[in-house]
Amino acid sequence: MAEKEETDRIIIGKTYSLDSDNTGAGPYYLTIRKLADLFLQKCPDEKNLLSQIRKAGSGRSFTGKLSGNSADKSRILFIKKTLKEFLSVYTTGVKQHLRTLPLSKRFDETLRTKEEQYHLYMLEIELVNRIYREAFKQSEYKFALMPHCLRDFRPECRAVSGEIESVCMGCTIDCFINLGGHLLRKYNIHPYISVSMDLDKLFRKLKSEHPDIGALGIACVPELAMGMRLCNKLDINPVGIPLDANRCSRWMKQCLESSFSLNELERLIR
Ligand code: SF4
Repeated sequence: MAEKEETDRIIIGKTYSLDSDNTGAGPYYLTIRKLADLFLQKCPDEKNLLSQIRKAGSGRSFTGKLSGNSADKSRILFIKKTLKEFLSVYTTGVKQHLRTLPLSKRFDETLRTKEEQYHLYMLEIELVNRIYREAFKQSEYKFALMPHCLRDFRPECRAVSGEIESVCMGCTIDCFINLGGHLLRKYNIHPYISVSMDLDKLFRKLKSEHPDIGALGIACVPELAMGMRLCNKLDINPVGIPLDANRCSRWMKQCLESSFSLNELERLIR
């Protein structure tokens, strides 16, 4: 698995890239884990910290609304400052992207994500994985959604419609969807290629069919954070792995191949 990651590095995204120095995404994962450890020393209640991080990442002035709680306010200021110091290296494209974002696209919450929000979402994803990993693993029914930009673009994709979303037919071994699918099935997780635009509707349907359910998302940082929030709202156990970079046609002029860490995926679900 690691071999594919080693040979297919240099993945530059529109706003963020987890491979900041051409050595793979390993240093990013070490950094985000250390940062989460640090913040949990100051706020040992993982769910409480997650709740504060979500409010701070909501786009509104969270610290301004915390005037009655100086401890929370100063903690969030410390977290934001520290995240900026250690994570800015992964989000170098955000400012330029926002400067050139056409007026017609500024209503899109994902596209208009600010750099500070990326950092908070990165921490949020790490915290959600820590909090819900065991519950996810114990879930009776587990499924995963992977985006189309992970496929090998050289052959024509032979994916077909599956029970819920598209299913990979394994036409090439050089395809992250195929590699990810093998790994997911090994851990009894049903892999699908994401095609639905309406995740709320899809997740509600799945929850009604499988009351004890876990969802694993692989998506760009803002989409993954939002997907995890939706899962929590619907009482679905979420975990997820961010794409190494955001390169689909929503961000770029054309859809470019992306990747994710297979090692991190196995670390999360084993
Ligand atoms: S391996 Fe699967 S996802 Fe990848 S191109 Fe082939 S059918 Fe499509």
